[in-house]
Amino acid sequence: MRFYEVDIVRPDLPRRWTGHLQTERTWTLPGVECPTCGETWSGQQTLPTVDVTDLPQQGLLREPRVVPYVEFMALTAGLASRLPRGIAPEPGMQLGPLRGSAEGIFGPLTTRDGWDLLVRKDALSQLQQEGLNGLIPARVEVEGLGPEAPALYELEFHIAGRLDPSDVLEGSPCPSCGWREVRISPEHALEADSLPKGLDVFLPANATTYLMVTERFVQAAQRLGPSDLVFREVPLARR
Ligand SMILES: [Zn+2]
Repeated sequence: MRFYEVDIVRPDLPRRWTGHLQTERTWTLPGVECPTCGETWSGQQTLPTVDVTDLPQQGLLREPRVVPYVEFMALTAGLASRLPRGIAPEPGMQLGPLRGSAEGIFGPLTTRDGWDLLVRKDALSQLQQEGLNGLIPARVEVEGLGPEAPALYELEFHIAGRLDPSDVLEGSPCPSCGWREVRISPEHALEADSLPKGLDVFLPANATTYLMVTERFVQAAQRLGPSDLVFREVPLARR
């Protein structure tokens, strides 16, 4: 099986689709400033299917901000059990569906940053019918698409497999907040033995802003017709 990385279309190249969103996330965990390592940071993880409406402190998680690390721990107490697949709360983590407004016309698949994926409802049905594994859709709650336009879904991703460790330089984690310096080689490979069986789309555990899909996914995506995103093959590293 071949694997591919999702990327955005180069900004100087023409696009086929005009759709874009102006949205906010329902909840955003604060970023942290840590007295131990001196860093101020937040991650990029997004879990659109998570609903924490009944978490007592959810009202304090609505405005993006930065807090001391001890306050982050207090604000996220009880949250871990609400997150799927054993994922731990992380500074900057965004929860809940996208809400806001949409303009233009969306293609079958859309990525805004290269590590996110919006799927038109008809395209999602087709991907599901083709038996692709690992699709976790959350409906995007937007106005402005028009009465005839199909609904949009955002995919949530499994975290699985990893890039070849020789392509990921990781510093040692801060003992308090877990922050560590990470540098990823632009010429990276996936570690063959780590790859998930039965997932057609996933984020590698040591590089969660790199969205990976299988050849099966790429073929199914191509059958949906043109989309404004790029699939770039990623080599496999074997030991
Ligand atoms: Zn720290």
